[in-house]
Amino acid sequence: MQFAEHYEEVCCRVAAACARSTRTPGDVRILPVSKKQVPEAIAAAADCGVEVFGESRVQEALQKIPLCSSRLEWHMIGHLQSNKVRPAVEIFRMIHSVDSLKLLQAINQACDDSGRSMPVLLQVNVSGERSKSGLAPEEVAQVLEAASELQRTEIMGLMTLPPFDEDPETTRPYFAALREMRDALRVSSGYPLEQLSMGMSHDFEVAIEEGATWIRLGTILFGKRK
Ligand SMILES: *Cc1c(COP(=O)(O)O)cnc(C)c1O
Repeated sequence: MQFAEHYEEVCCRVAAACARSTRTPGDVRILPVSKKQVPEAIAAAADCGVEVFGESRVQEALQKIPLCSSRLEWHMIGHLQSNKVRPAVEIFRMIHSVDSLKLLQAINQACDDSGRSMPVLLQVNVSGERSKSGLAPEEVAQVLEAASELQRTEIMGLMTLPPFDEDPETTRPYFAALREMRDALRVSSGYPLEQLSMGMSHDFEVAIEEGATWIRLGTILFGKRK
């Protein structure tokens, strides 16, 4: 467990990727993904100043969060089932993985019932892979339009999870496509859509070069998941 060293190295690589692409390092946020990590590992990360973590399963997060410092914040990055929406809006400060209008409406309703509001990202299945969840690219505009009726959810941007490939250059076109989609939707919908959640341990530098504002990093920071 050498989170501190891993984190320091990743921060340097983030800064270098920002410099290459003339981006401001403060515009790129690292979201350490703590799924399958024990509370001790999360505490070690918190000691390095990390305050926000990504989790992909509500059940796991519900068990783990009470064992961690109460000053930490949690983001949901995995597929959210409709029967888990209520607990999810209680524990998460942001949901990166809204993959249907129905889910967005359910989040809005749950927030309304508990007097909260929720920043969200729309997950887009850019590659069209059947195994991946996410909105089809052509559905996103309709969801944005319907979202204008929803008072409790705020769509901050887009997220994607491209097909895995060891070579990050293979993934670059998917990241570029998400950014281009965002740029077009920004004009057509009027939503600023400032956030782009894209890039993982093996391809985050390419994602930064293509405009990522949140990079979701698990194994590169925590080591292999059990
Ligand atoms: C697990 C996970 C990550 C982190 O993956 P690593 O390859 O370990 O960095 C990022 N995003 C999502 C949606 C995940 O489920």
